[in-house]
Amino acid sequence: MRYIEPHAHMVSRTTDDYQSIAQAGCEALCEPAFWAGYDRGSVEGFKDYFRQLTQYEPARAAKFGIPHFTWLCINPKESDDVVFGREVLSIIPEFLDQPTVLGIGEIGLNKNTKNEHTILEEHIALAKERDLPILVHTPHLEDKLKGTRLIVDALKNAQVNPDRVVIDHVEEHTAAIALDAGFWAGMTLYPESKCTPGRAIDILETFGMERIWMNSACDWGISDPLAVIKCALEMKKRQHSGELVEKVIYENPRSFLRQSPNFTL
Ligand SMILES: [Zn+2]
Repeated sequence: MRYIEPHAHMVSRTTDDYQSIAQAGCEALCEPAFWAGYDRGSVEGFKDYFRQLTQYEPARAAKFGIPHFTWLCINPKESDDVVFGREVLSIIPEFLDQPTVLGIGEIGLNKNTKNEHTILEEHIALAKERDLPILVHTPHLEDKLKGTRLIVDALKNAQVNPDRVVIDHVEEHTAAIALDAGFWAGMTLYPESKCTPGRAIDILETFGMERIWMNSACDWGISDPLAVIKCALEMKKRQHSGELVEKVIYENPRSFLRQSPNFTL
């Protein structure tokens, strides 16, 4: 089955994972900049990470025939220090012209602090200035509902075109907040938290199959690089047609990602 993995943190994965997803039918993979499992000690650490995302990782993916794209930002978890956040923001423009950069992401909130919010607004301004799409990370567990509302308000205040923004990690209680406001929504399939495949399909059946995608977000924690394809098989077990499955795992992400001039298949 062909599919697009729209959100995966491959810097944390092995070559075996690349092999498995290539065999499963992955035709393109997108890697948003995020927390590395530890806090970087300097702006130089971010520079190295952005080089890894724009140079090394695309070359590694190419060995398995998978086009690799990326999104750049300082993630909300490390942006509570506004001075540091701004220093990292200042080096992002020098990477934005790299040929595999899709836009700004995954930006958002972690603990919904005022400082995180300031850096979120400055990322949104950068995306607007460069006319780039945005990929949003929404907070975990008890912070998710409030955080999602705050992020949507910040995007509306900045008058960002909602069709150019995907709000990721939505769950049952936040999917409508994103979709009703005209944004795209992403569901993250994790074995233990966020959405299980069953819950993700319930959400699809409840909110419809438009402007929505699924991703594995596979990273340094407990996660499964094959989650999207496993969920697709689960959709088929629930008697969803092959056409509908292909729409969710291939056509929808392609439609959104194509808004970025660097996304080609
Ligand atoms: Zn992520």
